[in-house]
Amino acid sequence: MQSEKINLIGFNRIQLINELLNREVITEKEKYRVKQLWHWIYFQGVSDFSKMTTFSKSFQAKLSKYYSTDRPTIINHQISNDGTNKWLIKLSDNNLIEMVFIPEVSRGTLCISSQVGCTLNCKFCFTGTQRLVRNLTAEEIIAQLLLARDQLGDWPTNQFRKISNIVFMGMGEPLYNYDNAKAAVEIIGDKEGIQLSTKRITLSTSGIVPKILEWGKDVDTRLAISLHAPNDLIRNEIVPINKKYPLKELIQACQDYPRTRNSKRITFEYVMLKGVNDKPSDARQLIKLIKGIPAKINLIPFNPWPNSPYECSERSQIKKFSDILNNAGYSSPIRKTRGQDIMAACGQLKSASVKIRKSELNLR
Ligand code: SAH
Ligand code: SF4
Repeated sequence: MQSEKINLIGFNRIQLINELLNREVITEKEKYRVKQLWHWIYFQGVSDFSKMTTFSKSFQAKLSKYYSTDRPTIINHQISNDGTNKWLIKLSDNNLIEMVFIPEVSRGTLCISSQVGCTLNCKFCFTGTQRLVRNLTAEEIIAQLLLARDQLGDWPTNQFRKISNIVFMGMGEPLYNYDNAKAAVEIIGDKEGIQLSTKRITLSTSGIVPKILEWGKDVDTRLAISLHAPNDLIRNEIVPINKKYPLKELIQACQDYPRTRNSKRITFEYVMLKGVNDKPSDARQLIKLIKGIPAKINLIPFNPWPNSPYECSERSQIKKFSDILNNAGYSSPIRKTRGQDIMAACGQLKSASVKIRKSELNLR
C-alpha cells in the first residue's frame, strides 16, 4: 500500500536520526531507538509500526503519524515453469519496473532494476527500446528486495535464506544512477540490518568507464561488464555507448578495478548473436583483448523479444566459442536461459510494463 506519509526505507542511520529528531519523534536522549527501528525494518522485515513490539504504544503512534515503510504495489506475479518468478511493480508515481527471482539448487538470485527503462540502447536489449526513463530512488531499489523477501517469506524467522545474491541486471544502467545505487548497496549490506554481504551483490554495467573505478573504490561489489564484442567495430554497433567509452578505456578500467576484496575475478557478459559476434575468430580476439585480467566469461544465449533484430547463435556455435575460451584457461559457462516463457530472461524486461501501464491508466 502506498501512502502520503514519509517512507523511511532508504534513509541511512544518520538521516534517520536527523529525520526523527527534526519532527520531535525522538529526543537527543532517545537516539538509541533508531538502532531498534533499524532492526525492525531491515532485520525483522516488519513494516507495521504497531507490530514493533519493543516500542511503547505512544512511540508507535508517533511513528505512524508521520511515517510508513510501505513497499510498492505488485501488479502482476508470474512463475515460470522453471521456477523463475517475475513481478511487475508499480511505483508511487505509477511508473512500472520488473524484478526477477531465479532459484537455483545452491543459491537464489534476485535481479533488481535501477532505472525505469534505460537511456542507452544496446541493439539486442528490449529494455533499451523503452521510452519512459527515470532513475529509481534508493528507497525504490531497496524496496525491491524487501518486497521480494515479503513475497518469498524470506525474513529471519525463516531458517534458509532464499535470496542469497543480488544482481543489478534488471532494467537500467546502474552506474548512471550512481548515488542511489550506492546508497542502496550500503543499506542492503548493513551488518545490523539486511546483512547481505557486498560479496554477494553484482553490479552489471554496459561500460560507463569513469564510474567503474569510482564504484570499485567506493562500494566494492562484484563487477560484471557487458562486453559482448571482441573489437570496437562490433561493439560500436551493438553497444553504442562504446563510441563514447571505447574498448581500450574499458579494458584499462577493468585492469585497474580494485581486485583485493570482492571482485577477484571480473565477469564479462557476452550475448551470443548469430552471425554478429559468434565466430571462432571473435573468441580468439576476445582472449587477446582481456589478456591479463582475472576473469570469467558468461556466454548468454540471446533472448529474443517481439521484432528483435537478432537471432540466437546455434548451440554448436556457442559450444565451439566456449571451448576456445576454456582452452585458453577461462571459465566460460553457457548461461542457462531462465524464465524465458514469461519474458523474464536477460534483456526481455519491458514488454509487460508498457502494455499493462497503458491499460491500467485507462481504468482510472
Ligand atoms: N544495464 C546493465 C544491466 C542490465 S542488463 C548492463 O547492460 O550491464 C543485464 C544483462 O543482460 C547485460 O549483460 C545485458 O547486456 C544482457 N542482455 C540484454 N539484452 C539481452 C538479450 N536480449 N538476451 C540476452 N542478454 C541480454
Ligand atoms: Fe540498458 Fe543494459 Fe539494456 Fe544496454 S543492455 S540498453 S545498458 S539495460
